[in-house]
Amino acid sequence: MKRDIIIIGSGPAGLTAAIYAARANLQPLVFEGSQPGGQLTITTDVENYPGFVEGIMGPELMDSFRKQAQRFGADCQFKIVDKVDLSNRPFKIWTLDDEYSAEAIIISTGATAKLLGLKSENKLMGYGVSACATCDGFFYKDKKVLVVGGGDSAMEEANFLTKFASEVWIVHRRDKFRASKIMADRSLSNPKIKVHWNSILIDILGSREDGVVGAKLQDTVTGTIREDSCDGIFMAIGHLPNSQLFKGYLDMDSTGYIKTGPVDTATSIEGVFACGDVQDNKYRQAITAAGSGCMAAIDAERWLDTEYN
Ligand code: NAP
Repeated sequence: MKRDIIIIGSGPAGLTAAIYAARANLQPLVFEGSQPGGQLTITTDVENYPGFVEGIMGPELMDSFRKQAQRFGADCQFKIVDKVDLSNRPFKIWTLDDEYSAEAIIISTGATAKLLGLKSENKLMGYGVSACATCDGFFYKDKKVLVVGGGDSAMEEANFLTKFASEVWIVHRRDKFRASKIMADRSLSNPKIKVHWNSILIDILGSREDGVVGAKLQDTVTGTIREDSCDGIFMAIGHLPNSQLFKGYLDMDSTGYIKTGPVDTATSIEGVFACGDVQDNKYRQAITAAGSGCMAAIDAERWLDTEYN
């Protein structure tokens, strides 16, 4: 199946690219991937997306993006791309059951939550350890939970968890949050939230049968190790770009973010464009992702125009 343009990924970047590409009559095919709608679908209130005075729920916002793209003819498919060949044009893309080709590709595969890499974290993931408060917070009614991290994600997760948990402890490795002031202040002024400053999580106590029962924390200043009882642990220590599919083809930085630009969304291969969190380790906002999705569709449209007309 051959298309002018295929978009891989369906967060704010991919679906905005789809809206623009569809309105340019390019009938884009969008592979939505393993998390249709992207990271916002596991978020609750999105308070900083312009145009929504009272905020909007993440899943609702992404549904609107999709419907808007479909209204102009975007073909959104719930398929996962498992292989690409970018060595020649048309580029080739494989999903589990089909092979596709495209003259231009827009990559908007986003990023995934980082984990600490502890054995106990791996063993207890889904049994008291989680990387998504929105998905799992409900299970911690009147319980005590820890949130690891000091950025906006940790603040957001901690605040969200106070809707259910009786106590939320943020575990942060330094004595100052990285989070924006407004989000940090919101956490610090919440009576249910307390902070383990200068602390790292070195082990999680519990079993798959009993769930999480506690955490082993190490003081980063004194080296002292202590145990703290808790019922759940939420990881919020940042994200890694979902760029593995394109390794060996596209230039990336040392952590795997796809290199674009400097002033557009072009990658190191002509006809391949990237937008959203997979190429942005600086802003990583829904609005900047959407903006770069718009840029990618315009870049792709102009490139197709000069190349083929
Ligand atoms: P982030 O800003 O990179 O923060 C990650 C946090 O985790 C940092 O505090 C970091 O500590 C800590 N950390 C990282 N690796 C660690 C490790 N191995 N052990 C212990 N702690 C570790 O990531 P983020 O919070 O996910 O935010 C990413 C971007 O999304 C940011 O630009 C943020 O503003 C944005 N965001 C915005 C909103 C919102 O506005 N509603 C919500 C969520 C995220 P250090 O500080 O010591 O490095």
